Amino acid sequence: MTTSPGSSEAAPAKIHADRPNRVLQIEWRDGHQTEYEFTALRWLCPCATCRGEGGMPGWLDSGPILTATQTTLIDVRLVGAYALQPTWGDGHGTGFYAFTALRDECPCAGCAAGREAAAADTAAEPGGRHHEHA
Ligand SMILES: [Zn+2]
Ligand SMILES: [Zn+2]
Repeated sequence: MTTSPGSSEAAPAKIHADRPNRVLQIEWRDGHQTEYEFTALRWLCPCATCRGEGGMPGWLDSGPILTATQTTLIDVRLVGAYALQPTWGDGHGTGFYAFTALRDECPCAGCAAGREAAAADTAAEPGGRHHEHA
């Protein structure tokens, strides 16, 4: 194995914006594939305007109805080796989407099931004393 510790999984090997289908495809170095619909990706924008800061709610917290323009991905750039910075149709482009967050939020069935299982484990067994096979 030639993986570097801690950073190999959460690094994209390929990123492709499929504009006709409004999907951002990410292929990770471990071969996993993630597809984000533009609208879902827009809702994940982590910037201060969208998410709020200093305890103040952000724009997305007000539950806005996003227009097609606001959810159209115009461009996506790499920020160093740790994040993507999409630019949206309304000119918004201040969100740095960390690879680790994008991978954590992967909407595919396998990852969603994994997150649910993890959440159920935490809720049901705070002590984590026994293990069951599903
Ligand atoms: Zn934002
Ligand atoms: Zn996944």
